[in-house]
Amino acid sequence: MYRTHTCGELRLSHTDKNVVLSGWISKQRDKGFVVWIDLRDRYGITQLVFDEERTSTDLLENTRKLGRETVIQVKGKVIERASKNPNLPTGDIEVLVTELTVLNEALLPPFTIEDETDGGEELRMQYRYLDIRRNPVKNNLIFRHKVTMEVRKYLSDQGFIEVETPYLIKSTPEGARDFLVPSRMNEGQFYALPQSPQTFKQLLMVGGMDKYFQIVKCFRDEDLRADRQPEFTQIDCEMAFVEQEDVLNAFEGLTKHLLKEIKGVEIESFPRMTFDDAMKRYGNDKPDIRFGMEFGELNQVAQHKDFNVFNSAELVVGLSVPGGNAFTRKEIDNLIDWVKRPQVGAKGMVYCRCNDDGSYKSSVDKFYDQDDLAHWAKVTGAETGDLILVLSGETNTTRSQLSALRMELAERLGLRKPDEFAPLWVVDFPLLELDGETGHYHAMHHPFTSPKPGQLELLDQDPGAVRANAYDLVLNGNEIGGGSIRIHDKETQAIMFKHLGFTQEEAKAQFGFLMDAFQYGAPPHGGIAFGLDRLVAILGGQETIRDFIAFPKNNSGRDVMIDAPATIDAAQLEELHLKLDLE
Ligand code: ASP
Repeated sequence: MYRTHTCGELRLSHTDKNVVLSGWISKQRDKGFVVWIDLRDRYGITQLVFDEERTSTDLLENTRKLGRETVIQVKGKVIERASKNPNLPTGDIEVLVTELTVLNEALLPPFTIEDETDGGEELRMQYRYLDIRRNPVKNNLIFRHKVTMEVRKYLSDQGFIEVETPYLIKSTPEGARDFLVPSRMNEGQFYALPQSPQTFKQLLMVGGMDKYFQIVKCFRDEDLRADRQPEFTQIDCEMAFVEQEDVLNAFEGLTKHLLKEIKGVEIESFPRMTFDDAMKRYGNDKPDIRFGMEFGELNQVAQHKDFNVFNSAELVVGLSVPGGNAFTRKEIDNLIDWVKRPQVGAKGMVYCRCNDDGSYKSSVDKFYDQDDLAHWAKVTGAETGDLILVLSGETNTTRSQLSALRMELAERLGLRKPDEFAPLWVVDFPLLELDGETGHYHAMHHPFTSPKPGQLELLDQDPGAVRANAYDLVLNGNEIGGGSIRIHDKETQAIMFKHLGFTQEEAKAQFGFLMDAFQYGAPPHGGIAFGLDRLVAILGGQETIRDFIAFPKNNSGRDVMIDAPATIDAAQLEELHLKLDLE
């Protein structure tokens, strides 16, 4: 038997017990006449003691030679510690060792296995198995397990059935490129890895499964963006005989359950906001509503004076920074520089101080008098002591610039508190989105999303105006879930494909199986998918999803531990009927 107890288990009540422990040497302290070892496993740390009085000389000498991270097994007796460590659950006791076996030696790790390590990100990724021994990473993985268990428990209790869908499939359009797998047995043909199980979960509804979920890997070959993983995990769900309201209620239930079980946070009901409102009030379809700084549109009160920058703008929009009048001139200049950085791209920014005596002082005093500025304050909700910041230009661009500024300000002012949770449903998304580059419309969510009742006709006249039965669940400024009520009849689906630029033949070749299935009694259905990695990170009070994935890829999509992707040899290429021409 390797062990009678784990390294996190022993307490004063075990005093005088003979125990066997196994684990890794985490630390060694040698005081000459006495040696202590911190023995570590997943469950904790137990102090081992060896001394001249009670330990054989051989054992004491051998113990001195052991390096960090050596895997050992010890036998000994639990004794009360002379100086207790209240920071350690096992801190009242130590184990006086009588026998030690080295189970495996260890090379010196390339970084220290401690909570605060000296290893850089890349090095830790390369030796991820060592990184996982560190508490922060280990605890994140345990936390993730806890969340997924709660998800499974809750959904199963609600009558959802977990069904696995295949990974070797045909393209499912979720707006990214597919990862492709060449087929050895079918020359010249390829599988695609699923961007999501979208079509399969719809087919499960046609199959009468009624309520489905799956915690499932999805694969998207996207250009690199910070904190995206080419493979990631979704909690994928679908329900039959539902309207939007039913889906929102079901998954508000799941989210509430998680917040309560995992964070002890109870939220009565989640607010809802239309996409249009979110854009108008926050410049963003996933607003962080833990703090205010809502937008105020100033066209009415700021145009038609003599300030041409505003007069020529499609949108003049501002927000009020609470307490912002305390910013120094230098701090304001720094914010102006911040919005002018190429990543944000504003040409400039107007500001107005709301002084304690009720007067205003703006950077455009030449054009606006106190009455004008009082209007600005009213529209942006500014009070004495605040600072109004105003941007102008083309509507969408200006909104997204001000939104970036709002988030930056919140960060600087410490308003994005990780222990506060503000969920929000954003509903009524546009069905289609105009691609600026190609001039074509594409599905904003995916091509299986249904338009709002009665809006199908609008598709011909004003495609951009059609609203969809599509919704996102936003948590603290992050989209954690998104879904829709689906099209469930062949005719509507065909109209959608037509508007998305598919010929009839293309639609049939790619999605004929789904359209066929719709002819065999497809129930009305809809669903949602949550991004599990991000959900777990946010619940864990952190932002980086990589820290919650056991073996993540780096920012270039590489697994630096196993060194993938990698070239393959000529024989394998040939077997797959592939020729590489790397010139
Ligand atoms: N398949 C969708 C996605 O991955 C989710 C859904 O519509 O249920 O975003």
